[in-house]
Amino acid sequence: MTDLTSLTLAEARKGLADKTFTSLELTDAHLSAIEAARVLNAFVMETPDQARDMAKAADDKIAKGEAGPLAGIPLGIKDLFATKGVRTTACSKILGNFVPTYESTITSQLWRDGAVMLGKLNNDEFAMGSSNETSCFGPVGNPWRRDGSNTTLVPGGSSGGSASAVAALLCMGATATDTGGSIRQPAAFTATVGIKPTYGRCSRWGIVAFASSLDQAGPIARSVRDSAMLLRSMAGHDPKDTTSVDIPVPDYEAAIGKSVKGMRIGIPKEYRLDGMPAEIEKLWEAGAAWLKAAGAELVEVSLPHTKYALPAYYIVAPAEASSNLARYDGVRYGLRDQGRNIKELYENTRAEGFGAEVKRRVMIGTYVLSAGYYDAYYLRAQKVRTLIKKDFEDCFAKGVDAILTPATPSAAFGIGEKGGADPVEMYLNDIFTVTVNMAGLPGIAVPAGKDAQGLPLGLQLIGRPFDEETLFSLGEVIEQAAGRFTPARWW
Ligand code: GLN
Repeated sequence: MTDLTSLTLAEARKGLADKTFTSLELTDAHLSAIEAARVLNAFVMETPDQARDMAKAADDKIAKGEAGPLAGIPLGIKDLFATKGVRTTACSKILGNFVPTYESTITSQLWRDGAVMLGKLNNDEFAMGSSNETSCFGPVGNPWRRDGSNTTLVPGGSSGGSASAVAALLCMGATATDTGGSIRQPAAFTATVGIKPTYGRCSRWGIVAFASSLDQAGPIARSVRDSAMLLRSMAGHDPKDTTSVDIPVPDYEAAIGKSVKGMRIGIPKEYRLDGMPAEIEKLWEAGAAWLKAAGAELVEVSLPHTKYALPAYYIVAPAEASSNLARYDGVRYGLRDQGRNIKELYENTRAEGFGAEVKRRVMIGTYVLSAGYYDAYYLRAQKVRTLIKKDFEDCFAKGVDAILTPATPSAAFGIGEKGGADPVEMYLNDIFTVTVNMAGLPGIAVPAGKDAQGLPLGLQLIGRPFDEETLFSLGEVIEQAAGRFTPARWW
């Protein structure tokens, strides 16, 4: 392994353009780093041959002066994205050895722009979870540990492999998806930057569906600038996803370093929770102070329906999941467990193929959608969702440019420490992030400090629809003030 792995994406872009090193050298450095970090279990499939071929092709293009914006940059891909000819499982046994014959829109745009695929990254099964412990490939290790402790911590979830790989310098950036917090929460747990764009900004085509009205893809990277560079390639209109929005993709990188003077930043009082660790409260205050010092104005705002967001999410998301996951029945894809008739084949396959958390979601979802309960649960949750969205709209209508909150209610926890007896304990991780998905808004998590045990903590900025640029500008102010955080290598 060489120093090449510790470059930011922007630095690597410069080194490649200046011919200080080649993409093949950069790619090989990352492939060695991946090999040396298998204990983290961040990758579920390594694609070294493909990576080298893509790197050589990028080097050719760079030499000819035809380099795309991500030419030669090695990335990791969450195993939820369909990759042509490369096994894609959503980290579920039920997809078995499914090898797609097509490429997701997002990954094809990354390859169009010259990026290099290192392999597929671990995630919670079907992206259901907050700790990456529900994957059929086993849990992912967080490269961060508590000071003086050998306990392996979770990297958050569901994009745990993405966050862990980026933090451990195994790839320069990664794709991720966020249905209720799965980009922002793992970013906060690993001191990486994660942005969930506005719903409709990135195409969902070719991404394994969890809850289609909430799912949105985005990048995880090591700096705000790097995440802006990645989002530019990932975003865009796609006729194959009818919820994708046809508005031009701005040059997000141009937002970095732009003045935030005069911006109004909302501080929602409902995010001040009883029993929230004092360190998180302090971090939040520090973030507000940094933005103020940069010329922003802080205003207290109210998002009165916040307390209903988590229960409503855990109705809407499982309802959509139960419908989306009906297609995994042993007939077309992956695993098949025989039975004496078709019904038994379905039952055996699903009983064998789905993990416990996925089964729980399918049962909850089926229940809230069933005749007699539909109005009481599903319809009600949809109404609550509208109210949550309206809370944000009212806030933005009063001239608020963005909202600052903590990203998570705690730092990373140990593998097996949470949710064993009561799944709700795990669901509470999403308390600050699910509102954003329910409202379809963009949200970014930026590393902002450490707790007393030396673990990273993040802040979240929530923006107006399709105003990711403001989040990049503000996020960079926090990044500059807080500094960069790198885990000490133990693997
Ligand atoms: N942790 C949340 C859940 O389990 C969110 C997951 C996600 O965003 N994919 O549903």
